[in-house]
Amino acid sequence: MDCLFCKIIAGEIPSKKVYEDEQVYAFYDIDPQAPVHILIIPKAHIPSAAQITAENSAVVAHIFEVAAKLAAEAGLKDGFRVVTNCGDSAGQSVKHLHFHLLGGRDFTWPPG
Ligand code: AMP
Repeated sequence: MDCLFCKIIAGEIPSKKVYEDEQVYAFYDIDPQAPVHILIIPKAHIPSAAQITAENSAVVAHIFEVAAKLAAEAGLKDGFRVVTNCGDSAGQSVKHLHFHLLGGRDFTWPPG
């Protein structure tokens, strides 16, 4: 499958790994938008949040457990943001479900 993040999981494309277990892989974003910018992705190829179903949604709960753990380890005690872009109008550029864990600065709401 021609998927950038599947290749990162497989080690075919280098990444700066932050965390890995049997279900998920986490690594630093190559173009950080905050002092802490980590991507957390399922190892299973799910194209986006629009394809989350009763059969595959357990990994999403696990991703949020990992996000809380990584945020704590990064010292983000004042808060952090977890976001997934879904589809072209939301700016999703990689068609493999991923959650951005962002922290280390203040964020505005609503996002641009
Ligand atoms: P999105 O625009 O929500 O689909 O997010 C995709 C993210 O992947 C962007 O923040 C990119 O900077 C990031 N990205 C793209 N290629 C790589 C890469 N090889 N290693 C790490 N992050 C990447």
